[in-house]
Amino acid sequence: MIPFLNLQEINAQYQEELKAVCSRVIDSGWYLNGNELNTFEKEFSAYCATDYCIGVANGLDALTLTLRAWKELGKLKDGDEVIVQANTYIASILAITENNLTPVLVEPNDTTFNLCPNTVKKAITPKTRVILPVHLYGQISPMPELMGIALENDLLVLEDCAQAHGAAINGKKAGSWGHAAAFSFYPGKNLGALGDAGAVTTNDEELAKTIRALGNYGSAKRYEHKLKGVNSRMDEIQAAMLSVKLKHLDDEIKVRQTVAQKYLTEINNPLIELPVVDEINSHVWHLFVIKTDQRKKLASYLLDNGIETLIHYPTAPHKQGAYKEWSNKVFSKSEKLHEQVLSLPISPVLDYKDVDRIILIINNYK
Ligand SMILES: *Cc1c(COP(=O)(O)O)cnc(C)c1O
Repeated sequence: MIPFLNLQEINAQYQEELKAVCSRVIDSGWYLNGNELNTFEKEFSAYCATDYCIGVANGLDALTLTLRAWKELGKLKDGDEVIVQANTYIASILAITENNLTPVLVEPNDTTFNLCPNTVKKAITPKTRVILPVHLYGQISPMPELMGIALENDLLVLEDCAQAHGAAINGKKAGSWGHAAAFSFYPGKNLGALGDAGAVTTNDEELAKTIRALGNYGSAKRYEHKLKGVNSRMDEIQAAMLSVKLKHLDDEIKVRQTVAQKYLTEINNPLIELPVVDEINSHVWHLFVIKTDQRKKLASYLLDNGIETLIHYPTAPHKQGAYKEWSNKVFSKSEKLHEQVLSLPISPVLDYKDVDRIILIINNYK
């Protein structure tokens, strides 16, 4: 069986280093808010080319705390509108509603799966305050255009980079375009911890301080609580392991890009629509998502031939029980995507011989 993603094998590549840093943290006797977190934050902000990085407990908190911090700083208030694509993972939307802000769902570009600048322009109302582009599946959104729209309309931009560590446009990385960006280091992401972790990157010092305080019970100074904060911290063991894995991220991205390039040039089955990519470095291929009108049949054919696939995502957020209030909304492009998308195996440890086999089997499908 060719698994969709072999996390065990990915982390086994670095097991000596990972075990060594875990021992270092165990022996240090210091498990939260210490040198490991400090070091990882510096390394990751340098990687993204931002002034600040704030480690938090997970990617959802990175999104939620950024919006919350903007509220605390008086830049947002209850009911303000946030524009986001309707086909995103539900976390992007949960962060908005958690803050009593109003998600304005818009149809994505159905070849890149990302926000379309013209659609965003049309969705702007007097209540719009934020654009939340999700760099879905690893492809960075059209950031120059979106930042231009934000500037013209005095809007904030929060990038959801959970799937796009290292993606770039003209060398400028995801996480450095918006006023702030949220990252997830969930184990299956391109830069994955061995547990939960997340981070915010920004160049805004005041925002960075507020997010850090919010994640630490609203406290910037011990026993002084200026805000009604929460507990959202990245622990020392996760930070240390992320520092190890960050060193290998660019090499892993290159393997993903090589696999994707093979799929793109060699899959030629007319029943399958391949993903569209603007520029090679703009996509880090967290997922390789094809479209087909025969998804169920194709997925079971692939499984019969020893190839595991997954669906990202089977149900649109506005069709989920969590958002019953939107059940009669119609986003026909997004809904069609949710019926057509299928993710093929892609990972830094996928054997090129297996890639050839996947391509052959897909091309033989009728
Ligand atoms: C994974 C993911 C998140 C949430 O990250 P967690 O670390 O699981 O909380 C948010 N947005 C997108 C697009 C994601 O893929």
